[in-house]
Amino acid sequence: MPELPEVETIRRQLAPHLEGRTLEEVEILDPRWTRPEPPALVRLKLRRQVVEEVGRSGKYLVWRCSGERYLLMHLRMTGALLFDPPVDPPHTRVRFALDGGHHLVYNDPRRFGTGHVVVGAAARDAYLAARLGVEPLTPSFTAAYLRTQARGRRAPVKSFVLDQRRIAGVGNIYADEALFRARIHPLRATGSLKGAQIEALREAIEYALAAGIDAKGATIDDFRHVDGAQGSFQDLFQVYQREGEPCPACGTPIRKLVVGGRGTYVCERCQPRPRLRTPRTESRNAGAEPHRTSNSG
Ligand SMILES: [Zn+2]
Repeated sequence: MPELPEVETIRRQLAPHLEGRTLEEVEILDPRWTRPEPPALVRLKLRRQVVEEVGRSGKYLVWRCSGERYLLMHLRMTGALLFDPPVDPPHTRVRFALDGGHHLVYNDPRRFGTGHVVVGAAARDAYLAARLGVEPLTPSFTAAYLRTQARGRRAPVKSFVLDQRRIAGVGNIYADEALFRARIHPLRATGSLKGAQIEALREAIEYALAAGIDAKGATIDDFRHVDGAQGSFQDLFQVYQREGEPCPACGTPIRKLVVGGRGTYVCERCQPRPRLRTPRTESRNAGAEPHRTSNSG
């Protein structure tokens, strides 16, 4: 699935082709794309409008069009946009005809991607606020924000990092890479992270995402650039999809676990596994270090 760096890469490539162009026609070939709105209505809202700006929020592409119309696109698992492809790919769902004889094709074999149109900036903000938490790589993404969100949560930190309503745009690849960089085990209870670890996690998420953007995304599965080319962040993976290979920091073989139903890659030496989870409120020795009697010497 394209994550923030992949969607940002698409945005950067798409913007010069789209901005200032008129959508002369919008052919929606798959009604599932606009659900619950009927495709005919979405077509009418977009047709003859000028694309003023192509933005991004989390994993959403946000097209600002004339008439204060906003097209909010999510590519989900396998969505890809292609500019002027020589032939339409076999899973074409939407075809945008642009002035100047150009066209943009939305291809999506698994059909989970969505396209919704809202009118007005307030409606756009409400749409995104219902789905997305804070955007990394912006000043709002602070350790204080993460600390507030993490407080009291027993869910594994991996699931926390993947929750779009807390942190927008991070998916499976960048979560694993960030947790490795921060030296935090993905199964750690989120609320148990220390202040320094929260700060390390914040820094690691931003580092991983920025490195991903610099590499023009990671090409695994179906991700393609707008011109059909591929990103190279997969060459920089430290742990992701590297099961059995030596950890780049310590040489321990990378392990693959399943956390929250997602394949998760970890170096259990660099990222020590949490000990038995005993909630502090249930512990008789709350706040006290256990006495050690056998390791003097
Ligand atoms: Zn290691």
